[in-house]
Amino acid sequence: MRAEHPKLEAGLAALGIDVRSGASLSELTSLGIGGTTDLLRITKHDSIPDLIELLEHHNIQYKFLGGGSNLLVGDGELPWVILQLAKPDPEIVLEGNFAHVDAAADLGRTVTFCAKHDLGGMEGLIGVPGTVGGALRMNAGAYGMQIGSYVREVKLYRAAERKIEILKGNQISFEYRHTSFGPDDMMLAVTLELPSKPFKEILQGIRICNEKRRSSQPLGQKSAGCIFKNPPGASAGRMIDELGLKGLSVGDAKVSDRHANFFVNAGQASAKDMLALISDVRGRVENAFGVKLENEVVVWNA
Ligand SMILES: Cc1cc2nc3c(=O)[nH]c(=O)nc-3n(C[C@H](O)[C@H](O)[C@H](O)COP(=O)(O)OP(=O)(O)OC[C@H]3O[C@@H](n4cnc5c(N)ncnc54)[C@H](O)[C@@H]3O)c2cc1C
Repeated sequence: MRAEHPKLEAGLAALGIDVRSGASLSELTSLGIGGTTDLLRITKHDSIPDLIELLEHHNIQYKFLGGGSNLLVGDGELPWVILQLAKPDPEIVLEGNFAHVDAAADLGRTVTFCAKHDLGGMEGLIGVPGTVGGALRMNAGAYGMQIGSYVREVKLYRAAERKIEILKGNQISFEYRHTSFGPDDMMLAVTLELPSKPFKEILQGIRICNEKRRSSQPLGQKSAGCIFKNPPGASAGRMIDELGLKGLSVGDAKVSDRHANFFVNAGQASAKDMLALISDVRGRVENAFGVKLENEVVVWNA
């Protein structure tokens, strides 16, 4: 989809939108899969309501991209433009135990920045790629913690109300890789309340989490993290492993040899290959265990 109409281009320029024509989603996602479209980078949160109105007026569909680390995007010319927040400066402002963080901030850098100021709690999130906005949307978590536990306030564009609002943490429900935000809501900034901890102690926790990841995940390969959510009381990876499916492939899409719930792009995998592999594995697990695995990866397929 191209944002090419002259009136649209003028409207985007007036809103301070930075347009990158023909962006390749294979370069913007950690799986390295996905076709092309225009990327619209938002420099001012306040421009979002007018931007959405402008796009709708021109019948242009859109999707919202964070860091692209939990996405499987379709091949070829894509039928929507991509919106993404540009990073402001500064991305993080600390106030006692509160960290006010822009949604475009890198999650890992946020964890380490807070750690250096003796604010802990998020050690488990070290090694989770992507942005703070994406982590909020997905309620990212690992090793027994999730970001939602620390959220006190979220500034977001509420698609249903067509305006920017602030929600208190207790107005939002954060569950396992699921939140109560609307499907088209856009996270803009968050206030986290983090426990005080000496930097040395946080660093120790970070090292332990890093080591666990290094020893179990295919970190040098292109992936989107876990493909499936764990069903209640079970492990998707263990079920896939028990069926001997590590190494199973469709084209260059492959079940990782290291972690059975990580599917990797071992070369030039297409979205079609990856979707076929996901469907094959889901079917085999259902036949063997009677459990239908739900995607953790977000699929944007035309
Ligand atoms: C090697 C590896 C390890 C991983 N380990 C973990 C892990 O341990 N735990 C875990 O939870 N995840 C893990 N992930 C998955 C992924 O990193 C997280 O889900 C991450 O929080 C996604 O953030 P993102 O900014 O990349 O989101 P994206 O992939 O860009 O987007 C994911 C979804 O969030 C939406 N979104 C993104 N930003 C916003 C925003 N500002 N407002 C509204 N919606 C938005 C998108 O529209 C999309 O629906 C891993 C991924 C990789 C590659």
